[in-house]
Amino acid sequence: MKLTDKAINWQGKRTWTLDDAKSLVGPGWGKLIEKIWVSLPKDALIEQVKEKYGTLRFYVSSVGQDVWDVIDAVERESGTICEVCGEPGKTRYDMSWYMTLCESHYHNTHEYQNRPVSLAPKAVTNTDAGQSNTKKEGE
Ligand SMILES: [Zn+2]
Repeated sequence: MKLTDKAINWQGKRTWTLDDAKSLVGPGWGKLIEKIWVSLPKDALIEQVKEKYGTLRFYVSSVGQDVWDVIDAVERESGTICEVCGEPGKTRYDMSWYMTLCESHYHNTHEYQNRPVSLAPKAVTNTDAGQSNTKKEGE
């Protein structure tokens, strides 16, 4: 089976694919997400994937120590890889939003005074529940 076909339980509501998980952080970290993804058992339960204080956070339950070891290592590695382009970088603490960036993206700080919209986390929502809460017009 291809890595991209593998779906993992997400917050117990639905299954998510590798691309869904990747969409929650910048494109430069795609390879890091893949490293974690291959180590996840099918019955793993993903709680959250996001960037926090400039590095990757990958929260999951129902996994063994071997998976935790992979996640720990990858989260540490994210502090050395530009979230925008995947080149070597470091976490920058002198910006309004901490980010791990390469020299080139760091020097374009005018673009990154705030977290780029394209890297902003997308909300993880249960679309079914959202629709049932919608009120009909006239009620
Ligand atoms: Zn970069």
